[in-house]
Parts: sequence; structure tokens; C-alpha cells
Amino acid sequence: METKQFKAESKRILDMMIHSIYTHHEIFLRELISNASDAIDKIYYKALTDDSLTFDKDQYYIKVVADKDNRTLKIIDTGVGMTREELENNLGTIAKSGSLAFKNENELKDGYDIIGQFGVGFYSAFMVADVVTVISKALGSEEAYKWESKGAEGYTITPCEKDSVGTEVILKIKENTEDEKYDEYLEEYHLKEIIKKYSDFIRYPIKMDVTTSKLKEGSESEYEEVTSEQVINSMVPIWRKNKNELTQEDYDNFYAEKRYGFDKPLKSIHIKVDGAVRYNAILYIPEKIPFDYYSPEYEKGLELYSSGVLIMNKCADLLPDYFSFVKGMVDSEDLSLNISREMLQHDRQLKLIAKNINKKIKSELQSLLKNERDKYVEFYKSFGRQLKFGVYSDFGMHKEELQDLLMFYSSKEKKLVTLEEYVSRMPEEQKYIYYAVGETNERIEKLPQTELVADKGYEILYFTEDIDEFAIKVIMNYKDKEFKSVSSGDLGIEGDDTVKETAAEEAENKELFEAMKAALGDKVKAVRVSKRLKSHPVCLTADGDVSIEMEKVLNAMPNNQNIKADKVLEINVNHSVFQSLKDAFANDKEKLALYTSLLYNQALLIEGLPIEDPVEFTNNICKVMV
Ligand code: ADP
Repeated sequence: METKQFKAESKRILDMMIHSIYTHHEIFLRELISNASDAIDKIYYKALTDDSLTFDKDQYYIKVVADKDNRTLKIIDTGVGMTREELENNLGTIAKSGSLAFKNENELKDGYDIIGQFGVGFYSAFMVADVVTVISKALGSEEAYKWESKGAEGYTITPCEKDSVGTEVILKIKENTEDEKYDEYLEEYHLKEIIKKYSDFIRYPIKMDVTTSKLKEGSESEYEEVTSEQVINSMVPIWRKNKNELTQEDYDNFYAEKRYGFDKPLKSIHIKVDGAVRYNAILYIPEKIPFDYYSPEYEKGLELYSSGVLIMNKCADLLPDYFSFVKGMVDSEDLSLNISREMLQHDRQLKLIAKNINKKIKSELQSLLKNERDKYVEFYKSFGRQLKFGVYSDFGMHKEELQDLLMFYSSKEKKLVTLEEYVSRMPEEQKYIYYAVGETNERIEKLPQTELVADKGYEILYFTEDIDEFAIKVIMNYKDKEFKSVSSGDLGIEGDDTVKETAAEEAENKELFEAMKAALGDKVKAVRVSKRLKSHPVCLTADGDVSIEMEKVLNAMPNNQNIKADKVLEINVNHSVFQSLKDAFANDKEKLALYTSLLYNQALLIEGLPIEDPVEFTNNICKVMV
């Protein structure tokens, strides 16, 4: 018999399972029961459209059977089963294997993170079993097959006998170790507990043979052991229950059971609406970013049920893009079961539900921000970028709705603050909301352009994400206050005296600046006196709508239009370097060109822009040194 090897990445996951890096071993049962339930769902949906199939509810169940003598635990289902090929493909490779490529070895060692990101599914059986056997007969097939694996060495597939369609997963439970009593997974009471805890809302009965002591018939003191088949789960879907019957743990378990995410949700929202349109919904704001969230592969959407029957896995129309991180489900009795995807898009009821949900998510986020700030900040660090995209996209259509959910790092508070907080603290004479753009907060802190604004005692918001400045340009003004980059031409701070002084200095040095501009050619639009610099000799600013940072972002885009900011080289006339410039202008024009080039390149470096010719730059520094 040929032993086949697992695909490399599957093997790594398997190794982690076998060595039990993850501590919540008991979840293996949840995973196997979920698979069983999915397999029954598949028959159910087939029966909806295939008249030759009937779905008789009593026929479909999941059964858990423990055998202490043989140390086996069976999870039996009456679902669709798997063909030989399906056993090979589904169990020989882990479904999301590609995702592992994202992780490096160190992260893999951690184990927890992998599970947090991808879940473990079927392989979790190896956390508690030495040998895993799967016997399956697929719907519509006459043959049954046995898949068996002892873990790392690989697996075998052989033909076998099985009467009915469905799957049996048989676990040979590990021997006890010092750290873990695997025996517990053969104990009736413990299995019941785990099923109740994680799989209570599974729609199909999960059965077990339960043994109880009973008084013998006709006797008043003699007991006998009676075994009877019982259904362990309550089967009532969580969303039909009342909020006061449910605990946070119930919501968290539902999230895990549904595999909305493998983290613990940051917030759960249970909605029951009995108005113009009737629906129940359970929504979650995840704690961690799904690994593919900011990639094109990520699909938004909520599960959609019609009277308890799933009609769509990811109904995208229920969520706007800016709330695409929300997970969960909606069940409505007002939707038709057989509605097609195309019709659904135009469904009036669905639109109402979507609108309603949107409002609810927004108000929940607002209350999180108000009442549980730490949690909100955590959320914002993961998904804030999405909200900013929301402000920017659709020509700013949603900016009013979203602007109060935005946060930016504040120069004064040294933490994230809202626009509302910024504006409420503004001194009366301050005209603008100031911001500075850079790669990191540390870099922005050192930007010479912030000097004057900071010196005035004004708060500055730090923009470190590409989208920030674009989003703010769309908002234009908040509470009648315009946004102003500390790098923009006119800062709106200078008093009349300063304006006069600047004009005088400009006039006085007109020829010098013209000579410098000539030396730089097209690289800058002008050379000017700076009023924003205190300790630095030069900086770059931009005239017009396109800032230097925006230029960077736009040019990094795939089909860039080579858009350029109108750059201005600003000179600090109070800096001692300025005297050297004046001297050079008077005595040595070549030297002036050299100094100008050096200063321009310095300004580029400070801005985080590449200098055109680094070799020339360093040569020029050497020239100045000798
Ligand atoms: P996931 O369930 O997340 O896809 P698993 O590793 O748990 O990942 O399972 C892999 C696949 O194996 C499933 O998608 C399903 O197609 C198949 N499978 C697992 N268990 C069963 C079962 N009891 N009946 C039918 N198919 C199953």
C-alpha cells in the first residue's frame, strides 16, 4: 500500500498540531463537528434544487461515540461524504495553504498566530490523536474509501465498506502525558460539556449515547445503568434568542464556530428589528486584521439567511466598503428563499436592512470611541485606514458620516486624537487645523517645517499613511476650519509686521535668490525667504494643491501621471549659512551654485525624497571640506 506525502505546507501545520503548540486542544471537536455540519448543509442545498433528493430532517444528524476500551472517539455524520479524489485533495492539503507563505519561521514557531489567522480545521484532530482514520462514502457513489494517517509520515487511501452515505472520523486518542489527560476526551460528561460550549447552535442534532443510573423497574433500592441516545445541542440559532439569555461567551463562541475569524471579536452587535422590515443580525468587529484584509483577494460581506436557511455566504450588498471589516450574519423572514443573486441586489427589503445595519455599525463605533477609548484605538489601528479610504472614495460622499470616526497622532497629546478634540482645543486666533506629513511620527517630529507652527504653541496632526492627506483634501474643512499643511506656502500665522519684514528681505536679496533659482533650473519653482524655520537653514515647501507627499504617493501608483508638486526652496535668512551664501554670491558664483545644490539636496533628504545624484552630492560635500 502506497503511503502518500502531505504537501509541504500542510506538513508544517500538521507538525504544529502533533506537537500541540496550541493549548486549547478541546477545539478539535468544534472543528470536526463544523465540518460534519457543513457536509449536511451541502445535502440540504442540493435537495433545494434537485427534486430527486428529499431532505428529511430526521435522517440527518451528527453522532459522537466514545469507546474507552479501544481509546477511540468517532465523529459520525450523514453529510455528503467524500469521493476518493476529495479525500485526497481535501485532507492531503490544507485549504488555505497559500497563506502560509506570508509567515516566516519565527512566526510559525509561535503557532498561536497561525491558528489566529487561518484556523486549523481537520488537522486539529492530531492535537489529541495519534492516528486519524476517515471513512467516507460520497453522495451518488457506490464505493467507500478509508483515509488514514499517523501524522507526519503521510497517509494512505484504500477502498473499504460503508453502508450509508456520510463520513466517520475516527480518532485514536493519545495516551495521557504529564501535562495533559487525553483520557478526558473519552469521558461522556466532558464531551457533552465541549459540545455545549462550542457547538450548541449547530442546526442538526448532535447525538451521544448517554448512560445514566435508574431505579430498576419494580425495585425501590436497586439501580441499573441505562444507555439512551440523547441530543446534546439546543439547535436554536443564537440570533433567535433574546439578548438577555446570552452572554459574551456565547457571542464569542458563535464567532469561532462560524469561523468569522480566529481572533476574539472586539465587539459584538446583536440586532433585532421588527419594523418595516423584520430581521435579526449578529455582527462583529474583529480584533485583528485578517491577513488578506488590505489585498484584492479580501471579500467583504455578511452571511444572509432567509428564515434560518442560509442563502448566501457573503452578501456584499449588506456592507459599504468602508465597513468591510465587519463580520456576521443577517436572517430575515422577509426575503425569499429562492431569490437570485441578481434580484437580491435590487431587493427593497435588502436595501432597507443594509441601510439600517450601516447606521447601527456607525453608532456602535461612535459609542466605542466615547466609552471604551482603548478598544477603539485598537480597532482604529487595524481598520482606520479603511475608514479614511471611505472618506476619500465616492467623491467624498460619506465624509460627513465618517469624519468623526477618524483619528490622527497629535504633536501635543502624543497619541491619537479626533478632529473634534483638536478643534475644541484650538486657541482663538488659530485659523487652521495644521498637519505634517511624513513616514513616521519620529521623522515628522524632526521636520524643520513644523518649527514655526510648533513654536506658536499650535497642535499639529501627524499624517503617516499615504491616504491621510488625500482624505483630508476631500474633507476640506472641519467645523469651518480649513486644513493646512505645515509645508504649504502660506501658513496663515505671520502677522502684518512679519509680512512686511519678509517682503523687505525678499527685495533685499532678490538677485541672490534669482541666481539660486537659475542654478537649480526646473527643480524648483522659486527660492524664497522662510518664516517657518528656526534652527534649520533650508526646507522644501509646495505651492498649489499637490503637496510633496502627494507627489510621492501619486508617483508610486502603477499608472502614474508623473504629477509634480510646485516645489519652493525656502531659506532661513537668520541662519549663519545665509551669510556664506551672500559672500559666495558677491565673490564666487561657482561656489554659490555648489552651495545651492548642497542645500537643495539636504532639503530633499529631510523630506525623505531621493536625491538625484548621490555621488555628485557626496563629492560636493568633499569639495566644501577641503
Ligand atoms: P475547512 O473546513 O476550513 O475547509 P478543513 O481542513 O476542516 O478545512 O477541511 C477541509 C475540507 O475537507 C473541507 O472543506 C471539506 O470539503 C472536507 N471535509 C472535512 N470534513 C468533512 C466531512 N465530515 N464530510 C465531508 N467533507 C469534509
